Amino acid sequence: MVNIRENIEKINKAKQEAAMLAGRRGDDVLLCAVTKTRSPDEINEAVRAGVTDIGENKVQEIIEKYDLVDPVRWHMIGHLQTNKVKYIVDKVALIHSVDSMRLAEEIDRRAGQCGKTMDILVQVNSAMEESKFGVRAGEAESLINGILKSCINIKVKGLMCMAPFEGNPKDAAAYFAAVKVLFDKCKKEIRHERLDFSVLSMGMSHDFEVAIGEGSNLVRIGTAIFGERSYKK
Ligand SMILES: *Cc1c(COP(=O)(O)O)cnc(C)c1O
Repeated sequence: MVNIRENIEKINKAKQEAAMLAGRRGDDVLLCAVTKTRSPDEINEAVRAGVTDIGENKVQEIIEKYDLVDPVRWHMIGHLQTNKVKYIVDKVALIHSVDSMRLAEEIDRRAGQCGKTMDILVQVNSAMEESKFGVRAGEAESLINGILKSCINIKVKGLMCMAPFEGNPKDAAAYFAAVKVLFDKCKKEIRHERLDFSVLSMGMSHDFEVAIGEGSNLVRIGTAIFGERSYKK
């Protein structure tokens, strides 16, 4: 049996230790519980165990569960299709997966319609391999500058990335370190009232401690909280 509360306590402890090893405080690293495929009951159990932020990767799941989950901050962490922005812009606190100007412009338009400033992260993919989503490290700055120039209803809060899944989590360290370098560079070089570079979203169940060691301050964790996902339902 999966004990959600116990798992969250374990992760909080591991998060604390990883942060301390890196000379930071555990509380400075936000836990975003990834709730894709999970029922509202499971999610509420996590919320009662102290989770304040949850992440979904599909618009459909956010819509279905939104009214059934206790008050919590919702994060859109998966690939977002332009034509679905309208369904979630009023519901989510942070969109982690912005990787094109076209998507940013639609978020801007829809956020404007509901009188909201939408916080976003730019998704970076410097692994080059498998993942289709995210901009190359070299393109991140120009995308950010483009968003700041034309999207008045968007605030750019930082970067998100996913390390290549295979292999030893330690191999992910170099990957995360490279994204941290990019994060620091953007933070230093881009000045704008709608840029508040403070969120570096990296690390999942299998590599979050490594990610924290390399500077992550937001970890997205599903399996280690809720157990293995089953996609047939
Ligand atoms: C599913 C998912 C996670 C969490 O993965 P786990 O291995 O279950 O912790 C994190 N980030 C994104 C973007 C995801 O889609």
